[in-house]
Amino acid sequence: MPSPELEIQNLSVAFSSPRGKLIAVNGISFQLNPGETLALVGESGCGKTVSALSILRLLPEPPAKILSGKILFDNQDLLSLNAKALQDLRGNSISMIFQDPMTSLNPVLTVGEQIAETLLRHTTMNRREALQKSADLLNRVELPSPEEKLKYYPHQLSGGMRQRVMIAMALACAPRVLIADEPTTALDVLIQAQILELLESLKKEMSILIITHDLGVVSETAQRVLVMYAGEIVESGPTKALLKDPFHPYTKGLIASIPKLGDKKKPGARLEEISGNVPGLDQRPSGCPFHPRCSWAMETCKTQNPQLRKVESQRQVSCHLEPGSL
Ligand code: SF4
Repeated sequence: MPSPELEIQNLSVAFSSPRGKLIAVNGISFQLNPGETLALVGESGCGKTVSALSILRLLPEPPAKILSGKILFDNQDLLSLNAKALQDLRGNSISMIFQDPMTSLNPVLTVGEQIAETLLRHTTMNRREALQKSADLLNRVELPSPEEKLKYYPHQLSGGMRQRVMIAMALACAPRVLIADEPTTALDVLIQAQILELLESLKKEMSILIITHDLGVVSETAQRVLVMYAGEIVESGPTKALLKDPFHPYTKGLIASIPKLGDKKKPGARLEEISGNVPGLDQRPSGCPFHPRCSWAMETCKTQNPQLRKVESQRQVSCHLEPGSL
């Protein structure tokens, strides 16, 4: 078994607030293997983005605070790096595509200046070479008339084009790890499919951690899935097996709430949903955090939070129920 490209060990992250320390990520561990595409899924507020931003130490500290854990990459713990070493790493060995390209791109710099900036920071290229490489990158992400687009400002591009620019920036230094945080959320279905196709074409070159609430995106892109709820990983496993036969009631609820083609529902019938909402950081229930929303909850679930345990060679679940009893 090759050693993992990126390994997260027992990561816990909290935010300070007038109401005290609020835990957003609670002791998660996972590995991203070389050449793997791994999906981190869950509803908004489950801790996916906080986990991803913590990898590159992009959360403002304070109010955020990493309470424990290790983030291992290239034989070093990223949590022990100083600011200069982190800057050398970001956009170079590990890159990130952010949720909303409109707010992530700088509105007063042209596309060319923004991509070239990454190259000037991390390579020995001069400005002319960096701009030429930027055009090549725009061509790589299939943006039409790349030389011309270098002169555009973000507001002159459509949402799909801006996302392609973000991907071009992320690819500039050929990273070993790409973190894609909801890369298709703000896009219409057609553009979403094109962006997913583009990510698919990158799989051979790098390991990808894709963060999404969309199980359709997961089934199309990822080999393995981690399901997060209330800051914890509640289920993990190979995509096909996990989507076909979920072991955790939360995963089952997420899958059941996807509308399916050919479903013979009566006109006006409601789609299935998971009742209730993800608890706020200051409203975390005792025991299993999913118990107020779980149709299978038992007395013990109200007081004891189950540990994540191995249930098959590649699958883990944290639930008091035995796998296969849903
Ligand atoms: Fe539901 Fe209990 Fe399993 Fe939590 S531990 S998911 S409440 S059955």
